[in-house]
Amino acid sequence: LILATPAAVVAGIGRLARDGVLVKSGAALEAMAKVDCVVFDKTGTITAGRPVIVNMTCFNGHSENELLQMAALAEQRSEHVIAQLILGETRLRGLAIAAAEEFVIDPGLGVAARSNSQRVIVGNLRMMVAHNIAIADGAEAVLAALEADGGSPVIIAENGIVQGVISVRDSLRPESKRAIHQLRHAGIARVVVLTGDRNRVAQSIGRDAGVDEVQAELLPHQKVEAITRLQQAGHRVAMIGDGINDAPALAMADVGIAMGLTGTDITIEEADVVLTNDRLDRLPLLIEVSRATFTVIRQNIWIFALMVNVLSVLAASYGLFGPAGAAATHQISALLVVLNSLRLLGYGTFDKSVIGRRLRQLWHEAGHELEHANHWLRHRTDKLSLSASWHSSRHWLEDHRRSVTKYAAASLILLYATSGMCAIGPDETAVVRRFGRKTGQRLVPGLHFRLPWPVEEVTRLRPAHVQVAEIGFRTMATAAPKADLAEPAAYEWNLQHRGGRYERKAEESLMLTGDENLIEVNAVVQYAVSAPDDFLFATREPADLIRVAAESALRDLIGRTSLDAVLTEGRAEIELLTRESVQRRLDEYRSGLRVIAVQLQDVHPSIEVVDAFRDVSSAFEEKSTLINQAEAYRNEQVELARGLGLARLAEAAGYTASRANRATGDADRFTQAVEAFKDSRGVTETRLYLEAMEQVLAGKKKMIIDASKFGRRQMLFVDQKGFAIAPGTLEEK
Ligand code: ADP
Ligand code: MG
Repeated sequence: LILATPAAVVAGIGRLARDGVLVKSGAALEAMAKVDCVVFDKTGTITAGRPVIVNMTCFNGHSENELLQMAALAEQRSEHVIAQLILGETRLRGLAIAAAEEFVIDPGLGVAARSNSQRVIVGNLRMMVAHNIAIADGAEAVLAALEADGGSPVIIAENGIVQGVISVRDSLRPESKRAIHQLRHAGIARVVVLTGDRNRVAQSIGRDAGVDEVQAELLPHQKVEAITRLQQAGHRVAMIGDGINDAPALAMADVGIAMGLTGTDITIEEADVVLTNDRLDRLPLLIEVSRATFTVIRQNIWIFALMVNVLSVLAASYGLFGPAGAAATHQISALLVVLNSLRLLGYGTFDKSVIGRRLRQLWHEAGHELEHANHWLRHRTDKLSLSASWHSSRHWLEDHRRSVTKYAAASLILLYATSGMCAIGPDETAVVRRFGRKTGQRLVPGLHFRLPWPVEEVTRLRPAHVQVAEIGFRTMATAAPKADLAEPAAYEWNLQHRGGRYERKAEESLMLTGDENLIEVNAVVQYAVSAPDDFLFATREPADLIRVAAESALRDLIGRTSLDAVLTEGRAEIELLTRESVQRRLDEYRSGLRVIAVQLQDVHPSIEVVDAFRDVSSAFEEKSTLINQAEAYRNEQVELARGLGLARLAEAAGYTASRANRATGDADRFTQAVEAFKDSRGVTETRLYLEAMEQVLAGKKKMIIDASKFGRRQMLFVDQKGFAIAPGTLEEK
């Protein structure tokens, strides 16, 4: 806010200085922006200020040189353009200028001076009248003729007698006419010329320059009065002048503008603005830049200072900005003010650039084209006048810019005021928030008038509208574009769902059952809004919320149920329990949502483990086959073994009995032998010996020797291998 005005004013003044327009204060720039009437001084301002002598008429036998010398004597202290002209001409002719005193300058009239006995008065007719100098009939005729010729007569009188007339003529500055034309284009309503010169000359110059009004033969104080009259008529007046006689008028005008080159020091001092290069065609620029400066100031204040800050405060209060953001925004708004002001430095340069010129040219060409089209059309129909409407609308827009802006602003305000109107449809309900807060108001179907944003905000909801949250998969809005992934005719559980509109979400769908089987679950939850207020304030992404709640409930329930149950009889219960669990969670959050149903759409082993799953089930099958086989085998073998056992037992019993019988038989025989021995011991002894020998030597090679025939013999026994020789007797052996 602090930068808004000075930055723009400095930039505006800087831009003008570049084109030779020196604005002395910001106040002058401000006053300039409101000017609608421009007043020109004539001599030296609207005219070039370089008059030429067109005629010299001498009376009383004087020569031209004498007349010039006389005039120069009085003019030597004057800064007036006529004085410069006369002095210049005198010097050019190499004439001496006598020393003089008692100089008197009568602004708007002329000058007077004394040298010894000479008293010289130079000026216009009113100067002469003021000094009671009589104009002879002859002189009067000359004056009339000179004026008719378009010159301004300068009368030279010495000691109360007119000695001659020098007629001077100043031509229009080359840019005056264009400058005045541009001023009108810039919206200046009235252009006036005020001059101390003769009416006739002034009128002709005024006509040439194209001004509205010429007031001639004015004294300095009359110029001031003229300005005052214009101001009283409601005009904001800028006065442009060069001479001392203009200084009071410059001071009176709303803006005083001095010519920097032709202007006298006091005029330059008095003025608010100085045209340092005397270029009148800088005046339209001055007006445009001063207006642009105030537009920029307004933008700076309203948009960059106030609006940015108000929006920032709102944004901060809604938490969009933290302290760092606020600090940055503050600096940025200051920067924007400065940058926006700097725009002024380049004012008008775009128009002069190649693009700017081309655009202007196009604009004009478009106008011409339309004019042609219009001519053509006018031959056919009287109704349509494109070009006329183009031109008139363009001019109309330029003329009515203010009111157009006003109406546009008014309609914008009206639009804003009525922006709260809303129509609620038959299946809708709406929640009203005031400054973001709950009001508890619910709008029923129909037309409603509410206060505009940001006071009130209306949010429509469709409570009857059932929505679906998908778990474990998503249905995409459009099918994948790849041809080989076209939508299948039907989805089957054991098909890899890679194409179509089906998108798998493995991280959601994969769950573990109670018996540690991995399964893939696709479910949908149907829900609707039950409490619009709660919903609006507590829930942002209802589908996500429900998905999370349902997924965790499903995981929990399935984790406690066996695979078979999930796939078969437990399914309905899981759906029911999930619904209850999700609803409980939603109520806890006050989400304003109602779960209508949970449906397990597709439950199956994970696609990745289908093969393994099949292997497992065939292994199970094989296992039971093997068990059956083993059991059958066992049953058979047990019976077999049992039979065998019984047989063995029977056999053993038989053996026992036979052994016992045999033993009993042996015992009986032994007992009989014992009895027999008792009866006939010798026989029995021999027999026993023989029997014993028979038994001992059974199966061995025997040599029977008759002891009575051979007596005692020495025997040598060699075993089969022939190594060991065991000595002994036969008896011994
Ligand atoms: P303008 O108002 O057009 O600038 P001035 O007020 O400067 O003209 O002068 C008005 C008239 O007064 C001039 O046309 C001239 O006749 C006369 N006048 C003013 N100053 C002088 C002067 N120094 N010498 C001769 N005539 C002068
Ligand atoms: Mg002047």
